[in-house]
Amino acid sequence: MKIVTADGLADDALEELKSLGSVVNLPENLESELADANILVVRSKTKATKEFLSKTPNLKLIVRAGVGLDNIDLEAAKEKGIEVRNTPGASTNAVAELTLGAMLAMVRNIPLANCGMKKGLWEKKKLAGTEIEGKTLGIIGCGRIGSLVGKKAKALGMKIIGYNPPPRVDQDFIEYVELDELLKRADIITLHVPLLPSTKYIINKEAIAKAKDGVYILNIARGGTVNEEDLYEACKSGKVRAAALDAFEKEPYSGRFTELDNIFMTPHLGASTKEAQERIGKEVVKIIKEFIG
Ligand code: NAD
Repeated sequence: MKIVTADGLADDALEELKSLGSVVNLPENLESELADANILVVRSKTKATKEFLSKTPNLKLIVRAGVGLDNIDLEAAKEKGIEVRNTPGASTNAVAELTLGAMLAMVRNIPLANCGMKKGLWEKKKLAGTEIEGKTLGIIGCGRIGSLVGKKAKALGMKIIGYNPPPRVDQDFIEYVELDELLKRADIITLHVPLLPSTKYIINKEAIAKAKDGVYILNIARGGTVNEEDLYEACKSGKVRAAALDAFEKEPYSGRFTELDNIFMTPHLGASTKEAQERIGKEVVKIIKEFIG
């Protein structure tokens, strides 16, 4: 059994995988390693497109170490009889905590203050912020991560409204509303949807126009759910007071967001905690053990 871990994996998990087969971690030439590989483990970096899968004649299983499956052509995998699995719950808490961290950092201008201090500035007046207690948090996508963000934000004194058409698991701390109502009422909007035809550019010029003046927006979910050009213009005009982004249409990101002080960015760090990576690693090993039987 040959296992290729294309985008890396936690050390403990790699050690365990070695007892299940021959493991090639972070190969320099992925294409040639995949010619005789049976199992492929990816994060978000490797794009398993139809063309990519046409060069994997022996592949039987792809494990996405993480949640989003948008980097894998599921149809093409199905056609080739390749099973695709992911580790949906393992990074939930890490992403929820990053969301809260990004929200507090954004409303209190913490990243700007830090950069200013390092340049010798003491910008007390300029960096006055906003509190989250008593504010309304609008959550778009109330699944595992969105709900946990809501639960934690509720504990911090926020009012929680959510948009998530059924099917969904109802939570008593979320008031479910339609998207337009959420846009109208939320002081802070946070996205926790996968990238689907129904969520592509769910935050665009029209949606932003319906939101409160000075709304804050977070996208710790997926690039493509926010129209980046529209968000740039809205942050520039002040319609959107500030945005915090961890996911981008093209990663690594390079673009005009770097020009604006009220756009705070992190390089897709949602699941990047020691704990989440360990949980993901354990889950990957479990899936592969089950598959081998
Ligand atoms: P989940 O499947 O539990 O939740 C997604 C929710 O979105 C579901 O409840 C679903 O019903 C809802 N939804 C689907 N279409 C919708 C629409 N059009 N409008 C409103 N809601 C809709 O997934 P999750 O584990 O909570 O993860 C959410 C997303 O977070 C993932 O898809 C992934 O894109 C992202 N994510 C990001 C990171 C990161 O590093 N930044 C890490 C993990 C996950």
